[in-house]
Amino acid sequence: MSSETTYSDTRLLIAGEWCDAASGKTIDVVNPATGKVIGKVAHAGIPDLDRALAAAQSGFEAWRKIPANERAATMRKAAALVRERAAAIGRLLTQEQGKPFVEARGEVLAAADILEWFADEGRRVYGRIVPSRNINAQQLVMKEPVGPVAAFTPWNFPVNQIVRKIGAALGSGCSFLVKAPEETPASPAAFLQCFIDAGVPAGTVGLVFGDPAEISGYLIPHPVIRKVTFTGSTPVGKQLAALAGQHMKRSTMELGGHAPVIVAEDADVALAVKCAGGAKFRNAGQVCISPTRFLVHNSLREEFAAALVKHAQGLKLGDGLAEGTTLGPLANERRLAAMAKVMDDAVKTGAKIATGGERVGNSGNFFAPTVLTDVSLDADIFNNEPFGPVAAIRGFDTLDEAIAESNRLPFGLAGYAFTKSIKNAHQLAQRLEVGMLWINQPAAPVAELPFGGVKESGYGSEGGPEAMEAYVVTKHVSVMAA
Ligand code: NAD
Repeated sequence: MSSETTYSDTRLLIAGEWCDAASGKTIDVVNPATGKVIGKVAHAGIPDLDRALAAAQSGFEAWRKIPANERAATMRKAAALVRERAAAIGRLLTQEQGKPFVEARGEVLAAADILEWFADEGRRVYGRIVPSRNINAQQLVMKEPVGPVAAFTPWNFPVNQIVRKIGAALGSGCSFLVKAPEETPASPAAFLQCFIDAGVPAGTVGLVFGDPAEISGYLIPHPVIRKVTFTGSTPVGKQLAALAGQHMKRSTMELGGHAPVIVAEDADVALAVKCAGGAKFRNAGQVCISPTRFLVHNSLREEFAAALVKHAQGLKLGDGLAEGTTLGPLANERRLAAMAKVMDDAVKTGAKIATGGERVGNSGNFFAPTVLTDVSLDADIFNNEPFGPVAAIRGFDTLDEAIAESNRLPFGLAGYAFTKSIKNAHQLAQRLEVGMLWINQPAAPVAELPFGGVKESGYGSEGGPEAMEAYVVTKHVSVMAA
């Protein structure tokens, strides 16, 4: 497979039609493996947003009236189309985002699976009947869709970040208007086309691009929008949550993390390296649940570091569409600059570079898979999410010490641990301040399990039955026999 495969320009999706921005304005899209412009995406202005909002309102009125089982059937049809088109959507995704094609196609297939789960869960949004204190009265608790949803999704998983939101929104009977990433627009567009082809009413699904701050500043306060959902960095999440709060809009915030990986004294080192190493370099580390702080018992530290270095050196860095590539470029130039800063700071604060540590080549955003040892607690990488292919290792002597370090930061998204002891596993389960914890296994963020963080990693959940709660409102109706 070569990089020469076709890539399409992306337009706005408003009221079931693809259209250019009223102003005709566009933004260039760049392939991070080559640095070349491969297409354009329409840049919406306020008149486009007004049309998209009106469509989201009428789409909501149409979609909510469709019985849940029929909505589920349409969503399942969309999921089948996503699965059928996974290779084509994956190729677009790799060209605009950089990840290896196998990962890109896997992301799209996972989206189909998640969508199917939400389609079925939408059939189980139950209310309840509460026994009345008066025998002539019936008390109902009803769950209704909250209304049109405004979603803001990032570039690291252009399809998967949308599916967790659209699945819960459509499953609950809401309409869905998403500002997807300008840097990776074509795969979200191809994904949403599956909903159009499956027959959702016009306006039920909308897609815009443009200036992120302008769009969120306009959509969040707008009276049509009843629910806000954002995935991205903690600083931006705080701004959007504050704006949503000012307008009393419900919100879900899936923000940054800084996942600890605790390798206890009794861990299976080979398993730890396989799981955590695989997770670390997936999508070049640009993953909110990426393992970022490797805390390894001092008796295993050297053995673990050597094995992780071997794992990193075994990766094949290259264009994600080239055969055999297991590590793609960083998604944009900002990440290259960020990695250079992270390295500089880590070395200045005493870390040793065991492998990697620098950009590879002069074109494309390639950065070598990197392992740092003896990393200081003061190093930037041990305090701020690196969002890159860098594993930072520190030793510890007691599990208490490792737990304290894990909980030191204001973030609390994912955590990983490796231990053969049930006692350790219980300690970790009870004391780690995270929203998701995987012990002796790689991350498995399946649709039926809650997905989300605590502390400054945000609030709300994007998996499991909890995900639906964010998209429904509760109404109590008491009916007295007249
Ligand atoms: P950024 O923080 O500016 O943007 C992050 C995302 O938020 C992007 O998709 C962007 O379009 C969007 N965004 C930014 N300002 C916005 C606004 N005012 N309204 C609506 N959306 C807005 O910077 P970036 O360079 O794209 O990424 C930097 C950091 O963001 C990364 O280092 C990482 O920590 C974090 N990030 C997290 C995730 C995640 O999955 N949680 C995804 C992407 C980026």
